[in-house]
Amino acid sequence: MAGGDTCIFCKIAAGEIPATLVHEDPHLVAFQDIHPQAPTHLLVIPRKHIPSLNALAAEDTELMGRLVAEGARLAAEQNLSGTGYRLVVNCGEWAGQTVDHIHLHVLGGRRLGWPPG
Ligand code: 5GP
Ligand code: ZN
Repeated sequence: MAGGDTCIFCKIAAGEIPATLVHEDPHLVAFQDIHPQAPTHLLVIPRKHIPSLNALAAEDTELMGRLVAEGARLAAEQNLSGTGYRLVVNCGEWAGQTVDHIHLHVLGGRRLGWPPG
C-alpha cells in the first residue's frame, strides 16, 4: 500500500505536486483531472491514504459520506444539478483504477453513456 512518500494523490493533498484545486478542507481535497473525460472532470480525495474501496474500514464511513457530499456540492457549483452528472469510484484493475488512493470522479457537462465501457 503506497503511502504519502510515493502516492501521487497524497503529494497533491500535501501541496508537493501542483494541481488546480477547487476545494480544500481538513478532510478532503478536490482538483481538476489532468486528462479530463468531460467538460467537468474533477477528482475528490480524502487526505487519508486509503488505497481503494477494498481497504475501507468501518471508521471511514463518515469520511466517505463527506466525499460523496462534496462531489455533489461541487457538481452543483458547476451548474450540473439540472442536466445531471456522474460520481464514480473505480476499484481495481478491471474497473480501470490507475491511482491507488481512493478518488471520486465528478463527471458532467455532456451526456454520459450507460453502461460504461
Ligand atoms: P482512475 O483511473 O484511477 O479511476 O483515475 C485516476 C485519474 O487520475 C485519471 O482520470 C487521471 O487522469 C488522473 N490523474 C492521474 N495523475 C494525475 C495527476 O498527477 N494530476 C491530476 N490532476 N490528475 C491525475
Ligand atoms: Zn495516497
